[in-house]
Amino acid sequence: MNLKKRRLVWQLYPSYLILVYLVLLVVGWYVSGELRRFHYEQTSIDLGARARLVEYQLKGEFSGRDQRGLTELVKRLGEQSGTRITVILSDGLVLADSHDNALLMDNHGQRPEVLQAFAGQQGTSVRFSHTLGEKLMYVAVPVYETGRLIGYIRTALSVSDIDATLTGIYWQLAFGGLIIAVLLAPICWWISRRLSRPLELMTIGAQRFSRGELDIPLEVTGSEETGRLAGAMNQMAVDLAEKIDREVEQRREIEAILGCMIEGIVAIDGGERVIRMNSAAAALFDLSPNLKPGRPIQEVIRQAGLQRFIRQALAQQETLEDELVLHGPNKRYLHVQATPLIGERKERVGVLVVLHDLTRLRQLETVRRDFVANVSHELKTPITAIRGAVETLLDENTIDSAEQRFLEIIFKQNERLNALVEDLLDLARIEQGAMQGGWEMSDSFLCPVLESSRMACESLLLQQQIKLKLNCPEHLHARINAPLLEQAIINLLTNAIKYSDPGGEVVLEALELESKIGIRVQDFGCGIEKEHQSRIFERFYRADQARSRNLGGTGLGLSIVKHVAQAHRAEVKVTSVAGEGSSFTLLLPVVP
Ligand code: ADP
Repeated sequence: MNLKKRRLVWQLYPSYLILVYLVLLVVGWYVSGELRRFHYEQTSIDLGARARLVEYQLKGEFSGRDQRGLTELVKRLGEQSGTRITVILSDGLVLADSHDNALLMDNHGQRPEVLQAFAGQQGTSVRFSHTLGEKLMYVAVPVYETGRLIGYIRTALSVSDIDATLTGIYWQLAFGGLIIAVLLAPICWWISRRLSRPLELMTIGAQRFSRGELDIPLEVTGSEETGRLAGAMNQMAVDLAEKIDREVEQRREIEAILGCMIEGIVAIDGGERVIRMNSAAAALFDLSPNLKPGRPIQEVIRQAGLQRFIRQALAQQETLEDELVLHGPNKRYLHVQATPLIGERKERVGVLVVLHDLTRLRQLETVRRDFVANVSHELKTPITAIRGAVETLLDENTIDSAEQRFLEIIFKQNERLNALVEDLLDLARIEQGAMQGGWEMSDSFLCPVLESSRMACESLLLQQQIKLKLNCPEHLHARINAPLLEQAIINLLTNAIKYSDPGGEVVLEALELESKIGIRVQDFGCGIEKEHQSRIFERFYRADQARSRNLGGTGLGLSIVKHVAQAHRAEVKVTSVAGEGSSFTLLLPVVP
């Protein structure tokens, strides 16, 4: 609704004027009404007295039949007293009238004043007389003779003069009121201004406050109420200024903290719009640090992978982590973490994305991996040469037992070295595959993979006299790279056999676990102490150094398993009790 607003002074001033004028009119109307009533009352009393006097004059004339004489007398009395006098018999018949011919007059028995007089009181009535053509007041008194009503004396006077005078007073009052109202106008204007001025000043002050000029207080003027209002608004301005200062200070602090952070920070609201971004994040995406908030993330960061990640983070309640590659002139590797942003009312308002730039780390890793791969590759030739030479020497019949022992030691150590180099090359190969766009995956049944893993370990099983129990439902399938997964299962099986006592049992099974597909390798061997369990997947970490070395372990088997799991977006879990055995489970995601 768009009501046109008028200034307060223009609302007050005409109201005052109208009020003053109305008051004058009402007072005038009341006073003139009272005057009229007073006049009528006086006239009525006067007419009553005159009627009594006439009654006295006409004593005995009622019963006498000299109507002419009576009319003469009434006319004379009427003229002398300036009053219309009518003599009426008790049946209403007009006997004589000072102003009219009684014979021509109709019966007056039903006239209101006569009816009242019939009841024994003085009757009064005001009405228009057609006989005289003006408004008259009639007063009738009953006339008794020896206690019997014989007629009425009615006196009448014109009240038109009174009415005319009172109407005159009305007009004078109306006109006078107008003059008074005009004369009072400046006073009304002054009062209105006095009332509205403090409010106007306050409005100007409030507008100043809204512009942020909070240091100039409002003038405390006018009435007590406006003064109090101005005081309250001044206090509000002081509080507001303090609050703003505090907020600005806090904002500066946050700005400084965010600006100094090496990690990129991007806050995104539920509608996928950027709320805020620190300079590190802006630099990552080649953006200006003073980016205007509220722009859609799709417009600001044109990286499909990151947009997908943000959408996924907005759709769930938990913290989400991932590693992404930013494509562009300079390829960048990021570790991204999204945490829900919680509002004041504990509602979720968006996500906070923290970006760690892993590019340098990845470069160093590549250098290390390449170095390890190159060294391992270079080592393969001498190792093969040593093996050939030692094998040739061992085949010689001329060597004595001491030489044979030394040659066997050389052969065994060379085999260990070979195993190490093989494992290092495998690791480098798996990591490289993961880095270069990931391993190729296909939806495959798991049974054949488990079966061929078992076959690969057949000789070791025989050697250690271990029984392998294989359980695999035919229908189980997952998105896998079969040779890679097979390598991980072989590593787990090798460990299970190695760390079991001869004649023991190992279980290899595939099973459905909640929303995952599990591949489990279980043994009942020496088990792993609790404190080692979290570290056995690290490179070269061995829970039992001596035992591992004796068994020809490299300390890289589980590390390879972990990398294979990562390539499959899977998890590896270990549960083990020292002395009772261990169970390693690979948890693969289910194919949708
Ligand atoms: P290794 O070549 O030494 O076996 P891994 O990386 O395969 O290296 O394993 C790391 C360590 O974890 C091993 O040295 C061993 O102490 C422990 N381990 C692995 N699997 C088992 C198992 N099934 N039973 C007991 N200990 C195990």
